[in-house]
Amino acid sequence: MKSLLLVTGLAICCTVSAREGELTRISPEALAGAAKLRDEAAADPVAYAFVADLTTQIGPRLAGGDNDQRARDWVVARFKALGFDKVWTEPVTYPKWVRRGEHASIVAPYPQSLAVLALGGSPATPRGGLSGQVVAFKDFPALKAATAENVKGKIVYIGYRMHAARDGHDYGPATTGRTAGPALAARLGAKAFVLRSAGTDDNRLAHTGITQFSANDAKIPAAALSNPDADLLERMLAEGKPVTLKLDLDCGIEGQYTGANVIGQINGSEHPDELVAIGGHLDSWDPGTGAIDDGAGVAIAAGAAHLISTLPQRPKRSIRVIAFANEEAGMFGDRAYGAAHQNEVARHVLGAESDFGAAPIWRMSSQVKPEALGAIDQMMQVLAPLGVERGGNGSAEGGDFGSMSAAGMAVLGLTQDGTRYFDWHHTANDTLDKIDAKELNQNVAVYAVFAYLAAQADGDFGSAPGAFSHAKEE
Ligand SMILES: [Zn+2]
Repeated sequence: MKSLLLVTGLAICCTVSAREGELTRISPEALAGAAKLRDEAAADPVAYAFVADLTTQIGPRLAGGDNDQRARDWVVARFKALGFDKVWTEPVTYPKWVRRGEHASIVAPYPQSLAVLALGGSPATPRGGLSGQVVAFKDFPALKAATAENVKGKIVYIGYRMHAARDGHDYGPATTGRTAGPALAARLGAKAFVLRSAGTDDNRLAHTGITQFSANDAKIPAAALSNPDADLLERMLAEGKPVTLKLDLDCGIEGQYTGANVIGQINGSEHPDELVAIGGHLDSWDPGTGAIDDGAGVAIAAGAAHLISTLPQRPKRSIRVIAFANEEAGMFGDRAYGAAHQNEVARHVLGAESDFGAAPIWRMSSQVKPEALGAIDQMMQVLAPLGVERGGNGSAEGGDFGSMSAAGMAVLGLTQDGTRYFDWHHTANDTLDKIDAKELNQNVAVYAVFAYLAAQADGDFGSAPGAFSHAKEE
C-alpha cells in the first residue's frame, strides 16, 4: 500500500464557503437526516432497477461501439425520469477500438483450441492468423529481464496467476503484464503476445482489458487466455517440447470517436455552485453486459442522488452524478472532465467514484484537509452500522475523479469487498445475476449518507487548486 504518512504535509487553502483554519462541522439535524436516508436506502428500488434496465435494454457498452450513443441517450432519459434538476453531456474524444472476432489454438505438440479474447488496443493478426513458438515467462519482471535473443520471432506468454483478495491488491501485478507486456515483447522482437487472464476464476472464459502501446512502439497482436487454457498451455510447456500456438485476431483502432460524459445534478438550495460529485463509468468491455463493471457504479450514484432528492428540501450544496465515458481504454472521461472543470476544483467540495463492483463497502479512506477530519468522523458515526471501517487520510484515490483529485479536489475512497470481483471482471460473466440487490443498496446508503452530509456541512473538505497534488505517490 502507499504511504499514509504524506498527509502531514497537506497544503491548506481556503475554498468558497469556509475560512482558513476553521473546523468543518456537521449539524445534529444533518446527521439525523443522513441516518434516515441510510435506513431508507435498504429497500430503495432505484439503483437495482437502474443497473437491471441498463444491462437488459442496452447491454455491453464498448466505448465507441454501436451501443455507445444508445447508452448515453438511455442515461440522459433515466436521469430525467429520476427528476434530476439538470441533465447534460460533455464531449469526450478517443481512439475507437473495434473487436470483430478472435481464435487461438495450440498447433503442436497436441492440437487443441483455446478460449481467448483480444486485448483492447491490440492490432489484428494478418488475415488467416499467425503461428509461432511460445516462449514463457512467469511474470512481467521475468519478461523485463529477457533479451531479444530469447524472444525474437516468438509468441511471448506471461503466466502470472492472480489471487483473490478483499482489496483486490493482486490486480496490480496481474495487469502490469497485460498493460505493458505486449509493448515490451514487441520491443524485444516478439511476433505476438498472450497472457494468463488477470482473473481469479476457473471458468473457461478469458478476461479482456486494455493494453498500452505508445506512439513509438511497434504494435503486436495481444490476447488473454482463460485460466484453464493457461493451465493447459503450461502443462504442454512443462513437457519440454516446443509448443506452437496459432493466433487469429480481427480487431484494431478505427480512427477517432467522440462520445460524452453524461451528467445529472440535484441543485443545491443555498450554495448551488458548490457540489458533491459522485459517479461511475458508463462504458464496459463487450463480452459481458457491464453489470459489475461498471453499471453498478453509475446505478449506486444515481440511486443515492435520487434518494437525497426525495427529501422535502434540496440539500444546501448540489449533488452531481457523472457517468464517465471510456474509462476502460485509459480514463478518457476522467481526463476530459478534469480538463473541462480545471478552474472549478474548489467548487467540487468532495467526491467519490464507485468502480469495484456491487459488494458491500467495508472501508472509507479519505483525502481531505486536517480541519475536516472531525466531519469525516461524524460521517463515520452514521456509516459504522453499515459495517464501514475508517481507512487512512491522504490515501484515497479518485478513480474517474483522478484528474480532479490530482488537481486538488478532496475525495473519499469507498472500498468495496472485491473478493469475487475478479472472477467476473472483463469477462462474458459480467452480468446482472452477480449483483445482490441488498448489497447494492448498502452502497447506495453509504453514498447517500456521505454525499448528503458533505452537502450540508458547515465548511469544506479542503478542495483547492494544488491542495493534494503532492499527497499522491505513484
Ligand atoms: Zn471499471
